[in-house]
Amino acid sequence: MQLTNHPTITTNGVLRPTHVEVNLSRITENLQAIQTNVGDSMVMPILKANAYGHGLVEVARHLTSYGVQYLGVAYLEEAILLREAGIEIPILVLGGILGSQVPLFLEHDLTLTASSLEKLQKINDAAEEKGTKAKIHLKIDTGMERIGVHYYSAETLLEASLKYKNLHIEGIFSHFSDSDVRNLESAKLQLERFQEVLRFYEHRSIPAPMRHMANSGAILQFPESYMDIVRPGILLFGVYPSSEVKQSIPVQPALTWKSRVVYFKVVQPNHPVSYGSTWKSDHQVRVVTVPVGYGDGYFRSMSGKAQVIIRGKRYPVVGLVCMDQFMVNIEWETAYNDDEVILVGNSKDESITVEDLSAWAGTIPYEILTNINTRVPRVYKKD
Ligand SMILES: *Cc1c(COP(=O)(O)O)cnc(C)c1O
Repeated sequence: MQLTNHPTITTNGVLRPTHVEVNLSRITENLQAIQTNVGDSMVMPILKANAYGHGLVEVARHLTSYGVQYLGVAYLEEAILLREAGIEIPILVLGGILGSQVPLFLEHDLTLTASSLEKLQKINDAAEEKGTKAKIHLKIDTGMERIGVHYYSAETLLEASLKYKNLHIEGIFSHFSDSDVRNLESAKLQLERFQEVLRFYEHRSIPAPMRHMANSGAILQFPESYMDIVRPGILLFGVYPSSEVKQSIPVQPALTWKSRVVYFKVVQPNHPVSYGSTWKSDHQVRVVTVPVGYGDGYFRSMSGKAQVIIRGKRYPVVGLVCMDQFMVNIEWETAYNDDEVILVGNSKDESITVEDLSAWAGTIPYEILTNINTRVPRVYKKD
């Protein structure tokens, strides 16, 4: 289970020249900006996939010391890593669960997502056997078709959930499939379906458990969906979920990605660079080599499009990105071995964002962040 405890390899005590810098202060500032916007709703930071590449345990420790009340992750294994690191606040595991995992949830006092009668029964049995009560959030599928009981057959699940002695139904939630687009029709329909399901409690005059649905996209553009808890992931890290989304909450990126020039050379005209000889210059140029590649999560599909910043100037990555290195054309400008190379971050007036990388790679910012390999050491700072 090596999610964050990757060996940070150093040579003579010196970190690999390529590293990610995480400014934890940015994350709590972003959290504060989100909290201000959502009013009384509780903010549950979602830290799945190594906290979107920022480091699960380090980010969780920072957030809990800041006073966060609840965390969310995708997998049981991520939640156990947090418990083993001494994180004691409630943790909701959002993903689907297997019956065989239930005892581990109870052992580590984790909150389960339950989305079928069969799962409820299994959880209740395991809790009864252990002489405890399992904390449950019911999952309603209002249009994602991923996990959850369909909104049109949810009543049976809700009815059943009231009967089990060893379950504490603490929450009920759903998930948007289209909250980060301009057209919110589908999101509105999903919210209506969820609200219809929640009328179950009203009709019986029993208090509803904590209701939640809003991910980053909905937090930014759909306040009607806030309810009791909001679940931001990517927004917490200062990255907007899409280029279409309304940037209604100001956030700042927490992550910068840096390396150093490891080699300098002059390349003669018509001498191609890198595998496949896909790029060459018709004049003499200076080309530097940077020790980062697709094996670190610097996508090969960015070849021919990506840029980096060296000495405050932007330069193009040329030729195909290799597993562990890529080349940069600095034309006839100056760069020396050891010069800092910014892959994501700011320098003087230039800035390269995770959104830029995702556009170059033809993907979404989420995939860029979560693919920065554990081979890349994470360094933490606070202002
Ligand atoms: C990933 C996830 C979130 C957070 O999504 P963002 O778009 O990163 O804010 C919230 N809820 C669930 C169920 C998720 O899977």
